[in-house]
Amino acid sequence: MPTLTLRGKVIITGEIEAVTGLHIGGAAAGLDIGGIDNPIIRHPVTREPYIPGSSLRGKMRSLLDHHLGKEANHFIQRREPVVRLHVCEDEAAYTRCPVCQIFGVTPGERRGWKNLKPARLIVRDVHLARDHEATERLRQAKTDLPFTEVKWEAAIDRITAAAVPRQNERVPAGAVFAPFELVYGLYDLNGTGCDRDLDWLRYVFKAMELLEDDYLGGYGSRGAGKIRFRQIKVEFKSRRYYEGEVALETLAERIDDVRQLPVSEYITRLQQLIREG
Ligand SMILES: [Zn+2]
Repeated sequence: MPTLTLRGKVIITGEIEAVTGLHIGGAAAGLDIGGIDNPIIRHPVTREPYIPGSSLRGKMRSLLDHHLGKEANHFIQRREPVVRLHVCEDEAAYTRCPVCQIFGVTPGERRGWKNLKPARLIVRDVHLARDHEATERLRQAKTDLPFTEVKWEAAIDRITAAAVPRQNERVPAGAVFAPFELVYGLYDLNGTGCDRDLDWLRYVFKAMELLEDDYLGGYGSRGAGKIRFRQIKVEFKSRRYYEGEVALETLAERIDDVRQLPVSEYITRLQQLIREG
């Protein structure tokens, strides 16, 4: 029987600022009567806009796929719009693939694999920052809908030049969502250690950096969805922390630029902490 031991969790938190308007689409079923064409997703109880962890995680995964030149071989949806992503189909490739290791593969189809580990990365939903001046400003601004603006766009027929106006709901630029929380688990499978997991941590930061230069949600090619990670904090909870024996280890705090995170340093420090137990 395989033995899987958790060696600790790296917790990355901070704020996400919408640098440009943000449109993360809600399902058509969520459309209010008399509502707009393209609504955003809102929390079902508070009705506040939020960033679903799945949107954030999915975008980070696809950017890393592109960055590492992985083949998009797996269909998530075959009908239009076609959605594909990369998933390793053989175990040898999986053991070397940071994307499948960090973001996970469906275990069902891979029952015979001996080296299967859980997805290393958990990404939580991110809500509008409570008690933040940016949220207060948004609350006091007379926006079209609570916390959002409605942006009119026109689709123009290339031949007749007839315009079809459409309304897109967006969270205005300047909104701050916090805290975001990414949890990266370090696992030891069958006593082989977690050095590789540690080394792949750098790809989580890489995906954050790639995302800042891409977009989150819809209408990115038309200016929406630019985000920035701010006030980044990196902490480590070791096995001994969960046993109540040691305090939480802070590896970095209040960093406003993903590129300034000294990732190699954390990895060395984490190796040291894991050796201590
Ligand atoms: Zn893979």
